[in-house]
Amino acid sequence: MIKFAFPFLLALTALLVSCQKDEVADALTSSRPFPKVDARLWAYFERFEEEGALRGLDIDLVAEGIIGQIEEIAEEHVAGQCTYGSFIDNHIIIDLTFWKSDVSDNTREMVVFHELGHCYLNRGHREDAHPNGACVSVMRSGAGACFDNYREETRKEYLDELFGN
Ligand SMILES: [Zn+2]
Repeated sequence: MIKFAFPFLLALTALLVSCQKDEVADALTSSRPFPKVDARLWAYFERFEEEGALRGLDIDLVAEGIIGQIEEIAEEHVAGQCTYGSFIDNHIIIDLTFWKSDVSDNTREMVVFHELGHCYLNRGHREDAHPNGACVSVMRSGAGACFDNYREETRKEYLDELFGN
């Protein structure tokens, strides 16, 4: 699960969005379908595979059968959740209100990757902060004290942490 205070997030990301729109249009396609996943999430699922491959992990989310949906999550400020278990297909839900809000592509990626961190990498939460207070991991819960700092300049470091742990 990943929580956000949406108004703060919007303020934080407003600048990023305006200079990223062109790239986003291209980046939102995927080279193949993920049949059990909402098509709006395909590009992020594919990027997760690609970023894993860059770090030596052979990830096939189609074969894995993880379900991905965009729906309203009743609990306030929850942007995504992962349900997993031995006898069910792991299942990610991204909150529709979050998805429709004016957040950056990086923020959407961070939320999807966080849930895949639970649902594929079997990771739990990590709340550690750098000395400046920024979260060390995208696997922060949102209930801790650290702040998000996931953006172009820090993305590689966060993804190294996500896949390398
Ligand atoms: Zn979580």
